[in-house]
Amino acid sequence: MVPVVMPTYARIDVIFERGEGSYLWDTEGRRYLDFTSGIAVNALGHAHPYLVQKLTEQAHRLWHTSNLFRVAGQESLARRLTALTFADTVFFTNSGVEAWECAVKTVRKYHHETGNPQRTRFIVAGGAFHGRTTTAIAAAKSEKMVKGFGPLLDAFDQVAFNNLNELRAAITPETGAIMVEPILGEGGIIPADLDYLRALRRTADEFGLLLVFDEIQTGVGRTGRLFAHEWADVAPDVMCIAKGIGGGFPMGACLATEKAAVGMTAGTHGSTFGGNPLAMAVGNAVLDVVTAPGFLERVEETGSLLRTRLEALVERHPTVLETARGRGLMLGLRCVVPNADLVTRLRLNGLLVVGAADNAIRILPPLIVGETEIDEAVAILDRTCRELASQNGTAA
Ligand SMILES: *Cc1c(COP(=O)(O)O)cnc(C)c1O
Repeated sequence: MVPVVMPTYARIDVIFERGEGSYLWDTEGRRYLDFTSGIAVNALGHAHPYLVQKLTEQAHRLWHTSNLFRVAGQESLARRLTALTFADTVFFTNSGVEAWECAVKTVRKYHHETGNPQRTRFIVAGGAFHGRTTTAIAAAKSEKMVKGFGPLLDAFDQVAFNNLNELRAAITPETGAIMVEPILGEGGIIPADLDYLRALRRTADEFGLLLVFDEIQTGVGRTGRLFAHEWADVAPDVMCIAKGIGGGFPMGACLATEKAAVGMTAGTHGSTFGGNPLAMAVGNAVLDVVTAPGFLERVEETGSLLRTRLEALVERHPTVLETARGRGLMLGLRCVVPNADLVTRLRLNGLLVVGAADNAIRILPPLIVGETEIDEAVAILDRTCRELASQNGTAA
């Protein structure tokens, strides 16, 4: 009989009951150090008192009114997001992929409005992940995601990530935009070279294309800057965010310049739940904390500390780990052993991390993580690598 929860995930047999800061407790009372942060979602950890306060205050006042009316929280959050970024205007969604869909529609409409209706195609990166709608899987093209779901939208041309020549060669008169993640997340924590990001901006301008950054995983402080593209000092025309901005409440946003959003007028797009008062209360609260003086500097410092410790682990355990990579608190380890073995053993030893493509594991602590927790995580990683190394040694 089919499970009552549609079995589209190979779920781990653990149920969590409670979380606090960087820790989770399961129903058996076991404690885990959570370096998944719900896949870069719980940016401020679990049960952050300020987020709890802001959400419950809003819950007592008003939950939902629909987008037939103005929503005060949308206006304040949009004002703040546009003041903090390249963007002039924001559309709020419930999830990452919806933010990305809004980016796709914004690009198409832009070219339609500006006399280039043939520019309907997108250049995307190999290894990219943009979500699970039929359009988003058409972009990612991975066999696992697309098999059996066709026919898919034929609008995405994939090129090797970080390869400018290949990207330029793929541009045709039908190309409308370049869409990339500044650091491939699901793809295995592979950062774009900063020069590559700058070259994408120049290339987009040269060919009259829009540049879209998918910052759904990299955004909202994860890399030690509010948005990862700031490291390269370039701005996109459109950006999708989600995950961290809700701190665990489902929400996302598509940010665009006035120019890029020229066609997104009344009636062109919508969402029943998008930008609802509960989500906006939490989004504003997350932004309060992440933009407080010193917060991002601390993420950068903590990230460098963890990065240095991970590099030391790679040196110490060459039969288990191959490389440490990433930026800020979006870090990854490419493994020599199967990444799933490492993920499982780490969990048994009390540390939660996320697998990714390219045989990598993702290390995504909450942005509020402290040095004690980093010490604890590194000790668990060290012990687990020793276990795996000795196991491999015995097998050989
Ligand atoms: C998670 C993610 C998405 C999809 O977000 P959902 O909320 O699952 O729809 C899209 N792009 C990137 C880069 C992501 O990490």
